[in-house]
Amino acid sequence: MKILVSNDDGYRAEGIRRLREALLTLAEVTVVAPDRNRSGASNSLTLDVPLRVFEAEPGVHYVPGTPTDCVHLAISGLFDFRHDMVVSGINDGPNLGDDVLYSGTVAAAIEGRFLGLPTMAVSLCTSAGSGRHFATGAEVARRLVAQVLRKPLERARILNVNVPDRPFDQLRGLRTTRLGFRHPSEPIVRARDPHGRPVYWVGPAGPQDEAGPGTDFHAVEAGYVSVTPLQVDLTRHDALPAVESWLEGIDG
Ligand code: MN
Repeated sequence: MKILVSNDDGYRAEGIRRLREALLTLAEVTVVAPDRNRSGASNSLTLDVPLRVFEAEPGVHYVPGTPTDCVHLAISGLFDFRHDMVVSGINDGPNLGDDVLYSGTVAAAIEGRFLGLPTMAVSLCTSAGSGRHFATGAEVARRLVAQVLRKPLERARILNVNVPDRPFDQLRGLRTTRLGFRHPSEPIVRARDPHGRPVYWVGPAGPQDEAGPGTDFHAVEAGYVSVTPLQVDLTRHDALPAVESWLEGIDG
């Protein structure tokens, strides 16, 4: 079993180091990760400049590129062997609800979806003063990957895992969840550069909106590890007939 590990916080982040250590007890592990924090990179590929790959230590590679670049390179010809699985993380912060559309952590897992085994994005729900229990996230990831190896999961290729930031023995268990929704983001933050010109910061994510029972928000809030199966098909299938009839007569 060969596991590819990536993230969006960069190859030096605590989360990816803990994840690698935990998964080395189960499998061969290769790290290919961005050279720096690329959180929010989503499923972006670098197409305008060539990519370079550097080796920080044996088995740990970093790329001045996006998380998707890293996984794409790693499973599309960088190595003379095949990986069986991608595990991404452990992200420093939650990836709940709408976050998955922006997340580089989730994007790295999605890029591995052709490998034929479930891919997994693991996020630790850190917040100011929450304790940064990356050891908890690493132990959860190790147990989930061990379960995949023991018991193949055919119909769920992408798992989005969010771990409450608390000691492992204070987790309440695991919950299968659906994605909740957030309110719109906080407003942009206006500032001035040293020359007096306006600059803008994208504001923080909005607070939870749809976060009732069954959602990822609800599980994490209650102290459970949230496991959401994701799919890439964004088609709104139940809207196909409505759009089809709406299009009728458009030439007239
Ligand atoms: Mn991140």
